Amino acid sequence: MQINSLPRYPLAHLPTPLEEMPALTRQLAGPKLLIKRDDQTGLALGGNKTRKLEFLLGDALAKGADTLITLGAVQSNHCRQTAAAAAKAGLRCELILNGKRPDLANGNLLLNEILGANLHWIDRSQRAAKLKELDAQLHAQGRKPYLIPVGGSNGVGATGYVVAMQELVAQLKATGRHVDHLLFGSSSGGTQAGIVLGARVAGFTGQLHGLSIDKNDPEHFEYETEVAQIANDCAAYIGSPVRVSRDDIKMVYGYKGEGYGVVGDLERDAIRLLARSEGIVLDPVYAGRAFGGLVDLIRKGTFKQDETVLFWHTGGAPALFAYAAELL
Ligand SMILES: *Cc1c(COP(=O)(O)O)cnc(C)c1O
Repeated sequence: MQINSLPRYPLAHLPTPLEEMPALTRQLAGPKLLIKRDDQTGLALGGNKTRKLEFLLGDALAKGADTLITLGAVQSNHCRQTAAAAAKAGLRCELILNGKRPDLANGNLLLNEILGANLHWIDRSQRAAKLKELDAQLHAQGRKPYLIPVGGSNGVGATGYVVAMQELVAQLKATGRHVDHLLFGSSSGGTQAGIVLGARVAGFTGQLHGLSIDKNDPEHFEYETEVAQIANDCAAYIGSPVRVSRDDIKMVYGYKGEGYGVVGDLERDAIRLLARSEGIVLDPVYAGRAFGGLVDLIRKGTFKQDETVLFWHTGGAPALFAYAAELL
């Protein structure tokens, strides 16, 4: 396996902390709860995309790129971390964002502007065409753009989470801990693809649960196939013989509420619960929803009292401030 010789641009503060949550564990009356703090990856307020961007930026620089292009929602954490990565590496950054510029640039959007990214607003239905057009324009201007897909979710980006699983397994070993269940929010699939492949590569034996942020089964059951595809692209990229099938991708459905980015009681309650028990801040779109789902599963008795459940905090708290009205 060639993972250590792949091009990688250092961006993250690693390893991220692995912490116990004793007060919350007591409050919910077991199972034992741990948290992996990828909200603390360090790049411009952190988050899971920073791990992917280390490998995406490594690849971009190896190919001589001078500009990163990516796309996402108005409050995309991925776009904000891409803007920061580009700034640090001395590249330009073009962001294609869904919809219309809001009157007040807040949260991640404010950070995009501060970080110096160029913003392009377009209706979501036309963004693929916009991406093509922008790419062609930049080429015509003599620039060398590098396209990063939504969420940084491809084989190159997922490598960041293969390495993250190696990091987790090393932390568990060093501290004599064992994890029975690992749960995280899943949306564009790169994080899950890397975690599933990384579990096999690093010998992690706990059960993996990707909580779907924005899809319901069976409406979107092709998601598992997409995640497996990213994992296999990643295996090819890192030179691993492991292959993943769609049956290896275990999803938790049923928590998408009113849809992507629509805050409900699940998120409001989950954000307050973790903040008031452990002093840890979640976000309203991803980690708040995933954690809310986890709390619901715990209350329904899904896990045994003597098991250990790890929640992987994927970041996103900068978006909180753009959702102040919905959260209060
Ligand atoms: C992007 C994101 C996720 C989902 O990760 P994917 O790799 O897109 O599935 C989860 N949490 C936060 C905070 C994110 O920004």
